[in-house]
Amino acid sequence: MSDFFNQVSRRKFILTAGASASAVFLKGCLGNPPENLTGGSSQAVPTAQPVVNLSPEQTPETTTVKLGYIPIVEAAPLIIAKEKGFFAKYGMTKVELSKQASWGSARDNVEIGAAGGGIDGGQWQMPMPHLITEGLITKGNQKIPMYVLAQLVTHGNGIAIASKHAGKISLQVANAKSLFKELKSSTPFTAAFTFPHVNQDLWIRYWLAAGGLDPDADVKLLTVPAAQTVANMKTGTMDAFSTGDPWPYRLVRDKIGFMAALTAEIWKNHPEEYLAIRADWVDKNPKATKAILKGIMEAQQWLDNFDNRKEAAQILAGRNYFNLPTPEILADPYQGKYDMGDGRKIDDKSMAAYYWKDEKGSVSYPYKSHDLWFITENVRWGFLPKDYIANNAAKAKELINKVNREDIWKEAAKEAGIASADIPTSTSRGVEEFFDGIKFDPEKPEAYLKSLTIKKVSV
Ligand code: CA
Repeated sequence: MSDFFNQVSRRKFILTAGASASAVFLKGCLGNPPENLTGGSSQAVPTAQPVVNLSPEQTPETTTVKLGYIPIVEAAPLIIAKEKGFFAKYGMTKVELSKQASWGSARDNVEIGAAGGGIDGGQWQMPMPHLITEGLITKGNQKIPMYVLAQLVTHGNGIAIASKHAGKISLQVANAKSLFKELKSSTPFTAAFTFPHVNQDLWIRYWLAAGGLDPDADVKLLTVPAAQTVANMKTGTMDAFSTGDPWPYRLVRDKIGFMAALTAEIWKNHPEEYLAIRADWVDKNPKATKAILKGIMEAQQWLDNFDNRKEAAQILAGRNYFNLPTPEILADPYQGKYDMGDGRKIDDKSMAAYYWKDEKGSVSYPYKSHDLWFITENVRWGFLPKDYIANNAAKAKELINKVNREDIWKEAAKEAGIASADIPTSTSRGVEEFFDGIKFDPEKPEAYLKSLTIKKVSV
């Protein structure tokens, strides 16, 4: 099949898949209440919130937006904002949430845009919005400007390992160096992430390299959707994977594997996934964008009340969202309780997923210093050229200033009456520290790269 035909048929498939009318009809025939396949809810009617009296300045230009999500805990603010009526409260009464089959589909769908049957934006690993803006991961290298608007969550991710390695691999992977070297000569240790060059790829690389293993030479890394990875682990062809809850925890529950590390252990209070929308949509609908942000912020605050987390787990586990056999799979991790599957147990609320605030301050606010870490890490592994961080990261900063719209976050927060103590005054969270003692000073990204032993870039 020619590339051209491949692309045409792929687009056609996406467009067809976008039209859910036939699926709705089918569900109706089976006696189930019709539901919107792309993320509506038949199980829970959105909880009505007191309607805010919107001034003309705050009345959104449109009540509709189509946001993509992946069924992992990172998506919770989107789902909760819809189901608990927080979007509607600010005038966004027709937010459509569209479950994406993979990160590649999310990228393809945002390229098309909602008008063409795709999406306007949604949940992203970092720095996907920057890579899409630069045309580095799009078809024909088309530049599609995007805006990062909020961080969705911290923590909630982990590195899962197949049971056969239990007792041999842990957070301090250096202790397992001989095992990796031994496997390398026969069947290399195979690990998966869900999309290249972004969070999950970067977490597993950081963890391996901190233990003295070269992720490009000592293991085989590849892109596989989480569900498929679990299947591959069952059959013994996959040794590890890096992704968000509920996948790592499901693996432990089903006794297929264990967890070597939580991302909360690798980098406490780390940036995880983000809300980003196409710049053309935001520029056209600035008030609607702020209304979406206000809904997200309220959902994030609701989610951080641990008394609400049982209800959150129930909503998220629903058939039309994560489709989990039981909400219990989310309930324990949501309280910071992890059975790591190798005898190790974590019971520490500070290790749970946080949506609004953590020990370091705001989770929701998108710090530019975090964008810079993701870009610097891309330079580290040779995914982006070194010139992004040359001259005190001038090129990276130019890109970040274009993509990161923390100014819109702040405006929305002020309009929503968020306490000024919860609105950061600096775009930098300052120096970050990792579990191996390495520090990232956003003022000196080159010095960070110099401090790392295993890297692809020469600095
Ligand atoms: Ca993630």
